Amino acid sequence: MSKTIIISNRLPVQLQIDNRKITATPSVGGLATGMKSVHSGGDSLWIGWSGLTDEEIPNGLAPEIDKALAKHGSSKVSLTTAEVDGFYYGFSNRTIWPLFHYFLEYAEFELESWNIYKAVNQKFADAILEKAEDDDIIWVHDYQLMLVPQMVRKQRPNVSIGFFLHIPFPSYEIFRTLPWRKEVLEGLLGADLIGFHTYDYERHFLSSVRRLLRLEVSFNDIHLDDRVIKVDSFPMGIDYKKFSDAAKKHHENKEVDKSELQKRLDMHKKNQPNAKFLLSIDRLDYSKGIAKRLKAFEYFLNENPQYKEKVRLIILAVPSRSNVPQYQLLKKEIDELVGRINGEFSTVSWTPIWYFYRSMPFENLIDLYTSCDIAWLTPIRDGMNLVAKEYIATRTDKTGVLILSEMAGSANEMNESLLINPNNFEEISEALLQAINMPKEEQQARNGILQKRLERYNVEKWANDFMTSLLEQKQNEKQHK
Ligand code: UDP
Repeated sequence: MSKTIIISNRLPVQLQIDNRKITATPSVGGLATGMKSVHSGGDSLWIGWSGLTDEEIPNGLAPEIDKALAKHGSSKVSLTTAEVDGFYYGFSNRTIWPLFHYFLEYAEFELESWNIYKAVNQKFADAILEKAEDDDIIWVHDYQLMLVPQMVRKQRPNVSIGFFLHIPFPSYEIFRTLPWRKEVLEGLLGADLIGFHTYDYERHFLSSVRRLLRLEVSFNDIHLDDRVIKVDSFPMGIDYKKFSDAAKKHHENKEVDKSELQKRLDMHKKNQPNAKFLLSIDRLDYSKGIAKRLKAFEYFLNENPQYKEKVRLIILAVPSRSNVPQYQLLKKEIDELVGRINGEFSTVSWTPIWYFYRSMPFENLIDLYTSCDIAWLTPIRDGMNLVAKEYIATRTDKTGVLILSEMAGSANEMNESLLINPNNFEEISEALLQAINMPKEEQQARNGILQKRLERYNVEKWANDFMTSLLEQKQNEKQHK
């Protein structure tokens, strides 16, 4: 019987080792949820890095870890600290991440980290090859593993391989600056199906394939030797039910069941019933446009002084990649901006920005989503942006306004939100005015449409659509031969 092998940089399991005692808890992230229908029962396996480097694993404990992971249908790829540095913090996050998000000036082109990226991709491929049979289905995830499809294909020409990129694929003019651009494309072309979040990313990829590899492309099929590779878009959804159910439950909470955060939010709402809460939630990443958003907020307050004491911006910035220098600089810039703006506009009864630099438990995310009148998300580039979808899913009475950057992949499916260009402060300022003053009926009409769409195209549908398309592609290829 054929099995499904899922492969991603990180396993969907959190490992904790305390006094040589191992606990493995399944993670609750979007990808893990989406893959539930694909990764269940004994006929599937998830291969990835455990999050612990070889140096961090206590002597002799590796077999125990393997056993603990096996209970969750997972198998680990072992990586040393040097490999994680070169492959993950290096090539993945200092070359591919900035380049694919159009931050060309941040992209470092270092031969050494490219070589480590190649070697680590080979390690992942070897881990698959050790387990894979010819009739298995392999699904490779994301930008850390772009060479894996070809490495597997070389050894197992008949196996089915799908690849999904969770970040944008940039235009040819950006992509061509990568010294190893051909190798990356060839790596990806080991797959039978290559998926992107949006049609634009798909188009960019096809144009790079055409121009750099001079391959024949017809519609979304690429012809390579005797193979046909299909390229398509699959916009990733969320676990809609999880968010809408949590919000419903949240509204039924009695006073004693409320979190401290919710009690505080309620108190502020009671004291200033007409004030609006604006919410922004992102990882602290330069692609998310947090510093620009703060400057846009300052611009808005200067242009519309009547809204002083009437709006409050809640910023949740989740720590991320804090050992990469650009992220440290950005943190400093945001800290200073928040300080400056609060210093400039605060009154005894009002602080314009509440800034949290941490991650919050799910319960508090729901508190924020359900309590804020406006979600304001302005990434400069974002593969998808799930926060936008989660906010809408939690609005049980359909009120709330989403202001979203048109540079986020999710903007393609969220036309009923207020779409803005994150670089245009005047437009943002107008959108804020429109959001603050939007009649309830209009909010509900817009969100009603958005909710229906998000509920239908949830993350499970995303995973199933991809798998169905991969199986069809393999069938078509067989018939073609
Ligand atoms: N999130 C979280 N803890 C937090 C804040 C956010 O787990 O404290 C989650 C959020 O619910 C969302 C994800 O992080 O599912 C962020 O996904 P998104 O696509 O918006 O951005 P990414 O971080 O993947 O670039």
